Amino acid sequence: MKQSLINLLPPATIAAILAFWGLAPAAWVEAPWALPAVAVGTVVFVQALEFVFERHPGWRMNWTEFATDIFYYAFFFFVIGWLSDTLVNGPLMAMKEEWGIATPWLAELPFLVQAMIALFLFELGQYWMHRAMHNWTPLWLTHAPHHHLTQLNAMKGYIGNPIELFLISIGVIALLDLDLRALFASITVGSAIAIYAHANVSANPPIWYGFFFTTIRNHSLHHTATSYEDTRCNYGNSVIFWDRVFGTYKDGESAIVGQDDRKRLSIWEQWTFPLRPFLRKKAAPEG
Ligand SMILES: [Zn+2]
Ligand SMILES: [Zn+2]
Repeated sequence: MKQSLINLLPPATIAAILAFWGLAPAAWVEAPWALPAVAVGTVVFVQALEFVFERHPGWRMNWTEFATDIFYYAFFFFVIGWLSDTLVNGPLMAMKEEWGIATPWLAELPFLVQAMIALFLFELGQYWMHRAMHNWTPLWLTHAPHHHLTQLNAMKGYIGNPIELFLISIGVIALLDLDLRALFASITVGSAIAIYAHANVSANPPIWYGFFFTTIRNHSLHHTATSYEDTRCNYGNSVIFWDRVFGTYKDGESAIVGQDDRKRLSIWEQWTFPLRPFLRKKAAPEG
């Protein structure tokens, strides 16, 4: 396949997802399988692309990485999804009801406009949460395990300490009156962009795509192993546009990713990482 066609894979995937939500029969959109089917379908597709259009041989998938990725993907959907529905979205919807918060004008806008408003708004929160994680030690300790990844692959965006995964799932979208199609489109398009932004796929999307959306080129720079200071750019999980607005955008790519001594962490080490400063103090000799 010609490189110029490979480069179109990310925008083509986004277009296909948007077309699905925009054109699918109402019964499909409302079916409980629709959202998981599109989400899982996207991951399977992009993961498969890694085996055909590899970007860096050093990031090649192996069984240990694959098993860990699958574990986190399931954990994110079942546990983090349940937590954020129970602790964030549920209470927000109750508050919306009680306080009479309504945005009926929003649901009247065209499908694409609604989907992009939801995506850019959710990502604005993500941007500041992520930036805070790189600027305040207690938050950094929850986010650091994501930066200890020593290779990037389609599902790597779902890997991190559970506290961090919960924090990045927080958003205020539940307060908005959105058409269900637009809401689902914003969720699945946002994930698809983030999946491509972590995937070992040799696609370099067109300039207009990279102007608004995060690409593997810019996100790999955020994961660079060169120094902690060099990771403090390109915070947008799927919308890099916010980095351009707030002055943290940096162009570049890094094939070598990881943190400190580039040691790969086990799941146990990822989960206990925020306790490290306390454990270290305890292990240090008295006096
Ligand atoms: Zn980060
Ligand atoms: Zn990442």
